[in-house]
Amino acid sequence: MSAPRIRIDLEKIRHNTRTLVERLAKRGIDVTGVTKATVGSARAGAAMLSAGATGLGDSRIENIEAMRRLGMTCPMTLLRSPMLSQARRIVESANTSLNTELEVIDTLSHHASQSERVHAVVLMVELGDLREGLMPGDLSHAVREALRLPYITLRGIGTNLACHGGVVPDAEKMSELSKLADSIESEFGVHLDVVSGGNSANLDWALGTHDTGRVNNLRLGESLLLGREPLHRHRIDGLHTDAVTLIAEVIESKVKPRRPWGNTAQSAFGDQPAIAPAGFTVRTILALGHQDTDPSGLEPPEGFAVLGASSDHLILNSRPPCLPVGSEVCLGVNYSALLRAMTSASVAKSFD
Ligand SMILES: *Cc1c(COP(=O)(O)O)cnc(C)c1O
Repeated sequence: MSAPRIRIDLEKIRHNTRTLVERLAKRGIDVTGVTKATVGSARAGAAMLSAGATGLGDSRIENIEAMRRLGMTCPMTLLRSPMLSQARRIVESANTSLNTELEVIDTLSHHASQSERVHAVVLMVELGDLREGLMPGDLSHAVREALRLPYITLRGIGTNLACHGGVVPDAEKMSELSKLADSIESEFGVHLDVVSGGNSANLDWALGTHDTGRVNNLRLGESLLLGREPLHRHRIDGLHTDAVTLIAEVIESKVKPRRPWGNTAQSAFGDQPAIAPAGFTVRTILALGHQDTDPSGLEPPEGFAVLGASSDHLILNSRPPCLPVGSEVCLGVNYSALLRAMTSASVAKSFD
């Protein structure tokens, strides 16, 4: 098989999804499986659905369209606020989109009317992380406007925390969201089907509380794929952290001095190499680099350390023996390494 390759273990993704779906169901919360880190992999999405996710979410319409072309008919949510220029495509392929701009919702309605569909929107509320969201004081006006549009249905409200400002989705933030849901319902006499509390960073809160209030949905990507919660990157109890791994081939493995010799200046990526201790070590080069992944997000096997990387070379340090040239090394990935590997044309994708 070709290397480097990203290996996705669908059974482990199913296990991770099933475990979280069951734990969250006890708290009245359903799961939207988020495929964006797999660049809209229909197989990863299907694994999430078969394990109880009620629909899929992705941040890019191109990924949703690709999954539709492969015959996926499940509910699909566009997670990133729609580009105005893509409104027609969004109405055609996504059932629901998360929105913050009235002009966009108006345009979605226009395209929905032309194709005689109804497009569902979830209004996103800013609760302090300062990425997307309507300011809470502007929510009521946005609801009023959205309710006027005949080809738009207001499915609910949501929020997204811990993505830009690192603001934690705690009990206080979630209760603020619940109160907003209640107040919109009493002001407009509508029922909000969805109160979407956030992403994998909400799991600490959701699994630790007995009062989830009105929150009845989470949009989960990282936790299903990597088995970790993103606030502290702790492993979630009972989940696999190796459902996705990156495999690379050894192109050199030799005993070499630890310390470079000669006059030193900047390295390929502008770092000033640290002074290494004296002595000798096994240095193994993998055919893998910045072009394929984020080297700082790799976890080498036990006994190995990543010494550095350039565009196409990853250097590992270990005790003897040297590794055979042509053998393969399996590395763990974090979110950033996963995303870049999935996006890289030079990394093969394999599923088992
Ligand atoms: C990426 C994203 C998610 C999923 O985040 P994870 O941390 O991978 O669970 C949820 N909601 C929105 C709006 C997103 O952009």
